[in-house]
Amino acid sequence: SRRSVTPSSRSRSPSLNDPENGRVRVAVRLRPRTAEDLVSDADFSDCVEIQPELKKLKLRKNNWSSEAYRFDEVFSGGASQRRIYEVVAKPVVESVLDGYNGTIMAYGQTGTGKTYTLGRLGEDDASERGIMVRALEDMIANTSAASDNLEISYLQLYMESVQDLLAPEKINIPIAEDPKTGEVSAPGASVVGIQNLDQFLQVLKVGESNRHAANTKMNTESSRSHAILMINVRRSVQGNEENDTSTIRKDGRNDLSNSHAIPTVRRSKLLIVDLAGSERLDKSGSEGHTAEETKFINLSLSSLGKCINALAENSPHIPTRDSKLTRLLRDSFGGSARTSLIITIGPSSRHHAETTSTIMFGQRAMKVVNTVKLKEE
Ligand code: ADP
Repeated sequence: SRRSVTPSSRSRSPSLNDPENGRVRVAVRLRPRTAEDLVSDADFSDCVEIQPELKKLKLRKNNWSSEAYRFDEVFSGGASQRRIYEVVAKPVVESVLDGYNGTIMAYGQTGTGKTYTLGRLGEDDASERGIMVRALEDMIANTSAASDNLEISYLQLYMESVQDLLAPEKINIPIAEDPKTGEVSAPGASVVGIQNLDQFLQVLKVGESNRHAANTKMNTESSRSHAILMINVRRSVQGNEENDTSTIRKDGRNDLSNSHAIPTVRRSKLLIVDLAGSERLDKSGSEGHTAEETKFINLSLSSLGKCINALAENSPHIPTRDSKLTRLLRDSFGGSARTSLIITIGPSSRHHAETTSTIMFGQRAMKVVNTVKLKEE
C-alpha cells in the first residue's frame, strides 16, 4: 500500500547551489563473462581493468592505457541489481517525485547488459529486478493512491517511427511540444494508470511481447530500436511542503499552479530509455544491418551524442530537433532535469574497438552541466 513521501526526501531535491545538479551522471557497468565469451576468447584476456573504489577504468589494446578514465561510478561484474538501482537510478526517481523531469538511459554494444540492467522483470527472483521495476516500486510506495497519479506509456523508436508497445497497431505516433511550457508528449500513445506493482509487471510483459512480435514482423532485432518507458507523475502537494517554492521554481520544476494555494498539483516525468546497440556506427551493411537501419540508428545516437557535447560545451543551441529520440528527450535531459547514463561494456578483448568507443561516449557525457545553474552564476 502507498504512503506519502517523507519530508526528508525533500532535502535531496535539486538545488541551484548544488554544483553537481543537472550534470549527466555517468556510471559504467561491466558485464560478467558469459559462456559465449569463454568459448570465443581463446586467451580469456580482458580489454578493461576496473578500479571501482577509485571510480576509474583502464583500457588495454596491446598494453594498458596509461590514462585511467574516471566516471561517477564504475561497477564490477559482481555489482548487484539493487546496488545499481540505489546508486544510479534512485536519485533520479526521488527528483521526479519532487517534481522535476528525469531520464535514465543505457548505452552500449548489444549483449553488454542494457536490457538486463533496465528491463529485467525478476519474476522468479526479485533480487534480479532491473531499474524499471524498482523505479515503479519506489514510486508506488512514495505516492498516495488517493491523491496522486502514476501513468505509463511504453514506446519503441525504430527508423524514426514512434510505435506504441502497448497497442502495436499504433505506429507513427507524433511527438508534440507545448509551445508555452516546452512540455514534450506523445499524444495518441496508450496511457495506463498504475495502481500496484503486479499490474505494472503485467503491462511491461505485454510491452515486451509486443516488442518481440513487432520486430519479428519487421524482420529486425530489438537491438536496432530504442525502447522508451515514460512514467508520468501527478502529485498533490500540501501547502506546508511549499515553503521554499520561489527558490525551487527558478530551477524549473513543473508546478501547474503559481499560487501558494493548497494543494498544489505538481507534474513530472521519468523516461527510462533502453538505447539501440551502439555497435558498428561507422559501418553500414555489415553484420546484418541494412543500410537504412544503420542510417537511422546513426542518426538518433549521433544526435544524442551531439546534444551531450553541446550541453558539455554550454552551447546556447542544443540540437534536439535532429532526431525523434532527442525530441522525445528534450524536456527531460540537461537543464533542470536529472539524468543518469549507464554505460554497459563487456570484458572481452574481441570487442576492444566497440568498448573503447562506448567509453569515449561516456567520457564526453561526464562533462554535461546544468545550463540553468551556469546562467545563475
Ligand atoms: P543488451 O540489452 O545490451 O543487448 P542484455 O541485457 O540482453 O544485453 O544482456 C546480454 C546477456 O548477458 C543476457 O543473457 C543477460 O542475461 C546477460 N547479462 C547482462 N548483464 C548481466 C549481469 N550484470 N549479470 C549477469 N548476466 C548479465
